[in-house]
Amino acid sequence: MSCSRRSRPTSRASLHLKYPLVPHRSLPTHAIFPLTLANLNLLHSSSPGHRKPILFSVFWPTRSSPAIDSLAKAKKGTKFTAYHLKAIFWTMKTVDDFNFEGKKALIRVDFNVPLNAAFQITDETRLKAAIPTIQKIRKDGGSVILMSHLGRPKEGPEEKFSLKHVVARLGEMLDTTVEFANDCIGDEAREKSAALGAGGVLLLENLRFYKEETKGNEDFAKKLSELGDVYVNDAFGTAHRAHASTAVVAQFFTDKMCGYVMQAELDNAQKVLDGAEKPFTAIMGGAKISDKILIIERLLDVVDNLLIGGGMAYTFFKAMGGSIGNSLLEEDKLDLAKTLIEKAKEKDVDLLLPIDSIIADDFKNDANRQEAKNHAIPAGWMGLDIGPEAQQVFANKIEESKTVLWNGPMGVFEMENFASGTIKVAEAVVSATEKGGFSLIGGGDSAAAVNSLGFGDRVSYVSTGGGALLEYMEGKTLPGVAALEE
Ligand code: AMP
Repeated sequence: MSCSRRSRPTSRASLHLKYPLVPHRSLPTHAIFPLTLANLNLLHSSSPGHRKPILFSVFWPTRSSPAIDSLAKAKKGTKFTAYHLKAIFWTMKTVDDFNFEGKKALIRVDFNVPLNAAFQITDETRLKAAIPTIQKIRKDGGSVILMSHLGRPKEGPEEKFSLKHVVARLGEMLDTTVEFANDCIGDEAREKSAALGAGGVLLLENLRFYKEETKGNEDFAKKLSELGDVYVNDAFGTAHRAHASTAVVAQFFTDKMCGYVMQAELDNAQKVLDGAEKPFTAIMGGAKISDKILIIERLLDVVDNLLIGGGMAYTFFKAMGGSIGNSLLEEDKLDLAKTLIEKAKEKDVDLLLPIDSIIADDFKNDANRQEAKNHAIPAGWMGLDIGPEAQQVFANKIEESKTVLWNGPMGVFEMENFASGTIKVAEAVVSATEKGGFSLIGGGDSAAAVNSLGFGDRVSYVSTGGGALLEYMEGKTLPGVAALEE
């Protein structure tokens, strides 16, 4: 087939090429397809209408493969394996692909914000993140019905978990009146949704006041679906859960898509996994290896350096025959730690463990402290932060990296006296970013640390999803994402 001008793909989809997701199962796994403009066109035209590639992904599964961000950058003659093509067929719409005029958009947002005793919002990052998606829909002439969870209510409604505490601040941010429904399903929600005019905003009460939400109950999801014409999921932080509002509800909609938060999260995670510029350094910390085994294994395929700090480092030292005193230990993970060390060697990954620690004689901020090498922590003492030498080694490695992924604190950073390792790492990540590198901060504690230091705007991207990001990076299908697939 020739690549005449006429056969050149002209649609937005084939020229504007982007990411995710999980492979389509029907393609063979070993065939190789050279990329030409002609077969790109063929690819596009042979996709059924509703499966037209909208977001494209290019996976390069091995470290030696050339890294490219998108098909758009691929040179003519580039070889694509079926693995890449599978990804291409996996499609998902975004809010940019839809005109919301006259439509009611039911949006799953993540308004799980921290509240103080007076029910004031103490960190509005999540509210702020949701604004662009809401405004795009309102600007189109649509209205929005927002649904979210807040906290972990056990048995039905509880004042401290009510989303009504969010209404006033959200109204200020959107510069409009936000209606509130005291129940996320039922007559009031239906009537208020029906009454919304163009640009109107309705917030529903906490979804988790119904246990049907976390159980993924279909009847409950159907009731929610009746409130809108179009479904938008912008809650990346809960995308790894198959809850009623995050996944199950999608089946009741013809038009379903991701919002800007979800899109940015997936884009950034994918960018790190597939197109990371080298040297690529991953920093893993936090309490336990057991929570992070899968991601560590996956990362060994793509990173140049893996820095391990936090409580999980001590199991490695124990596995190598060191004395770790009372430091955190996962006895049943000693063999695993050895295996990870071996795997890192095989894959030519520089696995760096902290040389030293700040140790304490009690798990308290004002405990007695001293420094010690990590293979020789005296009995009765525990490592609660990486030591000064390790901080310097880690910082140097990070600063010379072009891509940095960070998940988990280096020590018990909630206690001031054991926060210096986490701060030093955060500063090094900022420095690598300012030198032109790309940095992705995994959600949870590392995101909290970066934000509390005021570094949120000085790194490339702070993820809003801890567990969801880890699961996505582990290669798992996120139910909230899969449900949007066309
Ligand atoms: P994770 O949720 O697994 O990312 O773990 C975060 C928690 O790990 C934080 O609450 C830290 O206080 C804790 N942590 C980090 N380093 C240590 C350590 N050396 N000993 C005990 N806990 C730690």
